[in-house]
Amino acid sequence: MVTVTDFHEGGCLCGAVRYRVVGEPLRASVCSCTACQRRTGSAFGFGAYFKAEQVTLRGELNAYEHHSDESGRWLRFEFCPACGTQLTWTLEAMPGMRGVGVGTFDDPKWIRPRRFSWLRSAHTWVEPPEGVEAVQTGTLPPPTRP
Ligand SMILES: [Zn+2]
Ligand SMILES: [Zn+2]
Repeated sequence: MVTVTDFHEGGCLCGAVRYRVVGEPLRASVCSCTACQRRTGSAFGFGAYFKAEQVTLRGELNAYEHHSDESGRWLRFEFCPACGTQLTWTLEAMPGMRGVGVGTFDDPKWIRPRRFSWLRSAHTWVEPPEGVEAVQTGTLPPPTRP
């Protein structure tokens, strides 16, 4: 049951874009695919996925549309035009949902990953924690919760 007090906020580095999510994510996953490594400039992406209506954005976002070289499906990465922080994204593979970069939450530690995908492309030191589903590629299973 979602109540109005059950929310978390976040934003970009410069503060021009802020957002609020209500309730829990339907998924939370670390992705070591080469596109996530490149878009984040880091070793992996860490995203939480919400129904679009759980996420309220304030401020202007620019978007970049990328097509997966595996599936050909589109992903639209949304970022602050002022500071370049990538905050959210939408995916053809997940209609009606919005991904949120976990590192952009004011308190990012409230989300733990349930899945590690694209281990095939991961840095050699990346070890999924005990009890977390780990897969070599990125094929999406059905959501774990409605
Ligand atoms: Zn910004
Ligand atoms: Zn990825």
